[in-house]
Amino acid sequence: MKYTSTRGQSPALSFNDVLLGGLAPDGGLYLPETYPQFTDADLSEMRGMNYRDLAFAILTRLVSEEDIPSADLRAIIDKTYTAEVYQFTRDNQNAEEITPTVKLEDNLFLLSLSNGPTLAFKDMAMQLLGNLFEYVLNKKGETTNILGATSGDTGSAAEYAMRGKKGVRVFMLSPHKKMSRFQTAQMFSLQDDNIYNIAVEGVFDDCQDMVKAVSNDADFKAKYKIGAVNSINWGRIVAQVIYYFKGYFATTDDNAQQVDFTVPSGNFGNVCAGHIARMMGLPIDKLVVATNENDVLDEFFKTGIYRPRGSENTYHTSSPSMDISKASNFERFVYDLLDQDGEKVRTLWREVDQGGAFDIKGMMDKVASFGFVSGSSNHAARMQTIRETNAKYGVIIDTHTADGLKVALEHKDKAKPMVVLETALPAKFEDALVEALGDVPPRPDSLKGIEDLPQKFTVMDSSADTIKSFIAKAVD
Ligand SMILES: *Cc1c(COP(=O)(O)O)cnc(C)c1O
Repeated sequence: MKYTSTRGQSPALSFNDVLLGGLAPDGGLYLPETYPQFTDADLSEMRGMNYRDLAFAILTRLVSEEDIPSADLRAIIDKTYTAEVYQFTRDNQNAEEITPTVKLEDNLFLLSLSNGPTLAFKDMAMQLLGNLFEYVLNKKGETTNILGATSGDTGSAAEYAMRGKKGVRVFMLSPHKKMSRFQTAQMFSLQDDNIYNIAVEGVFDDCQDMVKAVSNDADFKAKYKIGAVNSINWGRIVAQVIYYFKGYFATTDDNAQQVDFTVPSGNFGNVCAGHIARMMGLPIDKLVVATNENDVLDEFFKTGIYRPRGSENTYHTSSPSMDISKASNFERFVYDLLDQDGEKVRTLWREVDQGGAFDIKGMMDKVASFGFVSGSSNHAARMQTIRETNAKYGVIIDTHTADGLKVALEHKDKAKPMVVLETALPAKFEDALVEALGDVPPRPDSLKGIEDLPQKFTVMDSSADTIKSFIAKAVD
């Protein structure tokens, strides 16, 4: 199994090389040369599997024996998907399921993806990535220094996945005093030697600019082995494919049945994994893309115009992890839409990379044939959905999941299961939940009082030179 770039001008690479790299040299994203196909017989065999067996059945078709021998892959999976790691279940859920479902009513479910250490779905992929990184770096005799910027979810998921891992250091920039108290405590209370929390005097964009400046310094990047774990990483996408299979089997009894999934979206990473699961033969009918007020993706799926916006035109909302106006992983879907023609992708992204837009109105029938539909939400709808879901089902959901559920109900077909991906637990977004319900949402016992733990972080001015010398000092 080899991986090629969506822009068609980079050499094919193995899984291990794609895992540690970022963008392809031609600016594209990596995808498998061909998608493995799961037949009806395969699906029947997989139906009774537990999460680890399912993960192995899928990953073994995407990772070659030369990259990671089966026995090693098995061991990595077994240590990743455990009830201890994904312990923050709702009442009556079995942590052994790893991604259990919540039935709201007939044919309407939540898929719980947020039971991991940081209470958001990013743990599903990041925990696997941490173990894969450690394995592959050790095999190659290499080390990496991960540099990232976060406004909350990604940074904490990366730190909890990489803490204590051999050969990996994490330098995570966040805007000083801009994250919620809970998010700050989650990250800054980590005392591991290989985790460096850096509170930048500035906003999230300043943090991102510092990361970009370092990445653009090729000499520094090579000398200090600067790496990333951002949402375009293929290892993250592939990990997310697994729970679509799990959710499908949990809500059907027969492979003749189809299921719709609704996915709260920002960077298009999560729903891209759903698209890939569908391409592999999982009987998914619709993939419903739910956005918040930052509705670039909703605009595309309604009009055929993809018009990313700059950070100055991005709204700060009460579902902040979806405040994204440039969907990094969207290119992967467009590549499939254009029959995997890298030249056509290059032509479209020539506009996008210069801050422009593209219009493929004429292809909307074909877009629909991939199952995609969309909708958007806003603050008032989010609050109302949280209140109604609590009143009707006694289930408290977070703001991102609320955007998903709101849009799911607009596309719901009575005769088919609709599965809404739960992308965070409500405890993570206390202020918004208090606004909606007048009460603090439940928090897992072991996370009570984390705001009072000692914190380890360095305050820094927003300067690329300062972060460079900080990294150099830590590494040398
Ligand atoms: C990251 C995130 C999203 C958006 O996921 P994408 O893969 O970027 O589309 C939605 N909800 C939560 C809680 C997140 O952390």
